[in-house]
Amino acid sequence: YKETIGDVDIVIAGDDAGPIFDVFARAPSVERVLARGDTKCSVIIDHGLQIDPRVVPSRSFGAALLYFTGSKEHNVRLRGLALRRKLLLNEYGLYRIGAEERGQEIASATEEEVYAALEMDWIPPELREDRGEIDAAKAHALPTLVELAQVRGDLHTHTNWTDGRDPLADMARRSCAKGYAYLAVTDHSPGLGMTNGLSPERIAARLAEAARLNAELAPFRVIVGTEVDIRANGALDYPDELLAKFDIVSASVHSSFAQTREQMTARVVGAMRHPLVTALSHPTGRLLEKREPHAVDLDAVIDAAVETGTWIEVNGGPERLDLPDTWIRKAIDRGATLVANSDAHAIEELEWMDLAIGTARRGWAAEENLANVRGLDAMLASRKKR
Ligand SMILES: [Zn+2]
Ligand SMILES: [Zn+2]
Repeated sequence: YKETIGDVDIVIAGDDAGPIFDVFARAPSVERVLARGDTKCSVIIDHGLQIDPRVVPSRSFGAALLYFTGSKEHNVRLRGLALRRKLLLNEYGLYRIGAEERGQEIASATEEEVYAALEMDWIPPELREDRGEIDAAKAHALPTLVELAQVRGDLHTHTNWTDGRDPLADMARRSCAKGYAYLAVTDHSPGLGMTNGLSPERIAARLAEAARLNAELAPFRVIVGTEVDIRANGALDYPDELLAKFDIVSASVHSSFAQTREQMTARVVGAMRHPLVTALSHPTGRLLEKREPHAVDLDAVIDAAVETGTWIEVNGGPERLDLPDTWIRKAIDRGATLVANSDAHAIEELEWMDLAIGTARRGWAAEENLANVRGLDAMLASRKKR
């Protein structure tokens, strides 16, 4: 769930790498084999991604998984901690110094074993960044991270009525089949022009369509919401009487990205102070490797979220992953509520919830920090007072 990656290492427990690498070499997605040795091979798959399968004996699997998972910073800290106890930690296992030559490891088959031998709790991979997780694991004080299976619904999605691909009925049926209790459809307001934002007449038609679907899919619930533009001058792109028709109002910056930090912060915080705004979407506006975050004071955004009860989104779009992980942790520490969303524009993109939850986990988020792990009534009741 890191924002971007280089290649992918796959650690495989086995005695004979030959037949395992044969499977990789023949896999339909593999375009070519770059190199093949006794324990490691490298292949290139579709889109040019390099995958390095590595075969290790089962007794070294945990140590190898830990080593190749990283991060480097986490592993350096762990190895230093081991050394202070006269232990050596490498990709084969944890040894008393000197015993590695004889292959007499203290722990190596599972990650849990290795961490336990270093007198700490197992650390979820998302936290392995040397950002305090090792001390927390020693103190048995790691958070119980939120899980994808705890998500009860998605609160930011689009349909073919604006810039999405699929009809609401398909988005709703897919969400229902996923086991969600609810789906908020949050098509755009008209301000951007190109996304064909909803007029008052189409909002009325959408409410009627949602009522029909709700009769069909009950107790599953389609919630009619909106992703309303925050205009350059800070005004919302719908008048209050239209905003009041939506049960979820997610406010977004989609234009005038080059504003100064003062302008952008006043624009965003002003929107968060609006009583009808439920959540702030993709708070930094960044597109990974394409567009820098806009100049917004995220400390002020977090303060406004806590003060007003506005939720802050963790957007799971692969280019966004926004709010970023380090800021998620600050938001949680200061008591803000997050909402993890896919921002799906097609039924298969509903699976981007996985990336939203992965990002939230990297920010140390637990179940109680997210609005959309709550059941329908509890989620609606926890919105800020209108
Ligand atoms: Zn948006
Ligand atoms: Zn959106």
